[in-house]
Amino acid sequence: MVEQVVVIGAGVYGAAVTASLTRRGARVTVVDAGAPASGTSGATFSWTNSCGKKPRSYHDFSVESMEAHRRLAADVPGADWYHEGGNLEWTADDSEREELRKKVADVLDFGYEARWLTRAEALELEPDIDPAGLPADEIAYFPREGWIEPTRLIGHLLSNAVSRGAEVVSDDAVTGLEVNAGSVRAVQLASGRRLPADAVVNCAGPQAARIAELAGLALPMRNTRGVLVYTSPVAVSVSRVIHAPHVHLRPDGAGRLLLHTPDTDEAAHVSDTGEITVDQSAVDEVLDAARALYPGTRAATVESVRVGERPIPGDGLPVLGRVVELPNFHFAVSHSGATLSVHAGDLVAAEALGEDRSDALAPFRFDRLRPRA
Ligand SMILES: Cc1cc2nc3c(=O)[nH]c(=O)nc-3n(C[C@H](O)[C@H](O)[C@H](O)COP(=O)(O)OP(=O)(O)OC[C@H]3O[C@@H](n4cnc5c(N)ncnc54)[C@H](O)[C@@H]3O)c2cc1C
Repeated sequence: MVEQVVVIGAGVYGAAVTASLTRRGARVTVVDAGAPASGTSGATFSWTNSCGKKPRSYHDFSVESMEAHRRLAADVPGADWYHEGGNLEWTADDSEREELRKKVADVLDFGYEARWLTRAEALELEPDIDPAGLPADEIAYFPREGWIEPTRLIGHLLSNAVSRGAEVVSDDAVTGLEVNAGSVRAVQLASGRRLPADAVVNCAGPQAARIAELAGLALPMRNTRGVLVYTSPVAVSVSRVIHAPHVHLRPDGAGRLLLHTPDTDEAAHVSDTGEITVDQSAVDEVLDAARALYPGTRAATVESVRVGERPIPGDGLPVLGRVVELPNFHFAVSHSGATLSVHAGDLVAAEALGEDRSDALAPFRFDRLRPRA
């Protein structure tokens, strides 16, 4: 019987798994090498979507995850982390337009909500966009998408878990796992503390492969870095996720905007000592693109620049649930974790306690990534 669970990592995944485990009656210790939300979950665009996700199983799982966010936000009075404003996307050139047409056609085929807007219709939704920045038509609108504020969500989930008896251990890295007779028995921390465990859940995000290695498992990862630019508060109306040709943006609380574009991801550099720097010209470019799109942001300055590391398993799909050869060791690792974590975390928690009633995690198990003999 599983009573004591150790969750490694207190990002969106660790917090979601911990909250679900405690709701189900388990005793949980969640351990983070830093502070909760100090990893990727503190440096993410966190757009909730299933826009262009394939195969079908991954699309459906993402749609169910969007629904889980909606349910959680509806259940918690004052839930302030969830925003469902929809997403607008358009392109600048013909080849990209063709890709967007295909994406819209594909998601419509899957029964996902999407429609095309004209410039006038888009301006009704986002009146502060410079009309010259929009094409006359073919602006894709995905009305059920939105974004979360991960730090607020993690705060809620952990607070809820602590009120049910969970312990949150910060600034103490996991350095070892005691494995014998096909089970993980305990987790060792840098402080010297030893945490006995009936089950362990690996929610270490970009570091998940290192934790897997401590359990004798090889988890292939192909992480990438992304640059996020946070502006000063600006008095402009932005209510949606915007994917424009040279800037992606969304509100980030108290009038701030969060800016990103894949073009600037290459501008992050990591030195041999681990120091991360970002080319100033790339930051200026993305800010200029936002100012051009929303002229009301002309006075915006850059408040901070963060670099997040996307935890991307080798084949791009989530790695969730138990491992066949080590059945009390579980994974909750993926890109798109802002979208998936509440739903996936609940399923992983149920499985860790032997309460799973379906095989919803079947397409995402670790075992598919093993090299075939
Ligand atoms: C630029 C960028 C844009 C993104 N955009 C989106 C998006 O639009 N939509 C979306 O859904 N997702 C998006 N993502 C992905 C999403 O943010 C991540 O999938 C998610 O935040 C991962 O959460 P996590 O809990 O797995 O990892 P993390 O938040 O990194 O948490 C892992 C935790 O584990 C801890 N840890 C690591 N090693 C140890 C150890 N040895 N001992 C103890 N603790 C340890 C870390 O300190 C960290 O706090 C984006 C990511 C980036 C970088």
